[in-house]
Amino acid sequence: MIDEKLLALLACPACQGDVQLKDGKIVCTRCRRVYPIVDGIPVLLVDSAQQ
Ligand SMILES: [Zn+2]
Repeated sequence: MIDEKLLALLACPACQGDVQLKDGKIVCTRCRRVYPIVDGIPVLLVDSAQQ
C-alpha cells in the first residue's frame, strides 16, 4: 500500500498537478492521467500513463 504522506509529495510528471490514489492506481486530479503502481512503487512516467 502506498503511504499517504508519500503520495502527498508526488506530482504528476505531465502537468505537475496533485495526484490521488484511486482503485490501486494514481490519478492526477488536474489532467486525469492514470499512473500504474507496480510492486508497490508508483510509476510516474508520462509514457506509462493512461488517459
Ligand atoms: Zn497531470
